[in-house]
Amino acid sequence: MLPKDSRHKSEVRRRATHFIYYKETLYRRSLEGLFLRCLGKEDSIKALKEVHAGICGAHQSGPKLQFQLRRMGYYWPKMVQDSMDYAEKCEACQYHANFLHQPLEPLHPTVASWSFEAWGLNLVGPAITPKSSARHSYILVATDYFSKWAEAIPLREAKKENMKNFIRTHIIYRYNIPHRIVTDNGRQFSNSMIGKLCEKFKFEQYKSSMYNAAVNGLAEAFNKPLCNLLKKIVSKSKWDWQERIGEVLWAYQTTHYTPTEVTSYSFVYGVEVVLPLEREIPSLRMAVQEGLTIEDNVMLRLQELEVLDEK
Ligand SMILES: [Zn+2]
Repeated sequence: MLPKDSRHKSEVRRRATHFIYYKETLYRRSLEGLFLRCLGKEDSIKALKEVHAGICGAHQSGPKLQFQLRRMGYYWPKMVQDSMDYAEKCEACQYHANFLHQPLEPLHPTVASWSFEAWGLNLVGPAITPKSSARHSYILVATDYFSKWAEAIPLREAKKENMKNFIRTHIIYRYNIPHRIVTDNGRQFSNSMIGKLCEKFKFEQYKSSMYNAAVNGLAEAFNKPLCNLLKKIVSKSKWDWQERIGEVLWAYQTTHYTPTEVTSYSFVYGVEVVLPLEREIPSLRMAVQEGLTIEDNVMLRLQELEVLDEK
């Protein structure tokens, strides 16, 4: 029903061109030409909660939260303000205040030009209290400098054997031998056992030390966003925090962006992840996907392959 007042009427007509109605759902066309699903009050609250602090939530700041929601394909009129308000009120975020004064991109001693070539390693410590229900008190974190892909494991002790095994099984065996790793100068990283591993697999270790100011704090600075997120989750989940590390990695990999402006997840796997919220409140890409016939699907795959060929 259009309003009677003619000015109001033309305004509604003009705005209506931004919207489409598809399978009983309203979508709004964004400036980039994407169709965003319009959410009502209840769904918008659910979306904010899930994307900020849910299973795939990375506790992002207001502007980033709003950007992530749009990227997932959602829209509502006050989403910018609502996102700011939500992030501001989050308890875990208040407790582990965001590092606003930290440079966005820490300076690197050398620039990685390909993925899995250089990793920054560091230990979330000193000993986390309370210990996890499985008696872990540390988290060992490694982030790839190029793709920002991250690996992390819970540890009971900060022993050098644990560091060595992690480099072997979580980095070398999974992602190939790196060219270098960047660590701090702690005893667990700086010892002959790690030295021998470097020799055996022919890679270098850059250590921060008194004599090498350029490397100082680099691994920590680089891993800081992930370590911060881990701390927030640990403080929220108390005893079972070791079981939530996988979840945190997933959140991190699907929200943090590489220098090429894609998430680490899509950089590594070549597709954008489908997050749980999109199953619950289908975004347009999900709605369209579900309505596809096998034939449509095959056509789409072929088109994707053609695009890949052109790259
Ligand atoms: Zn938060």
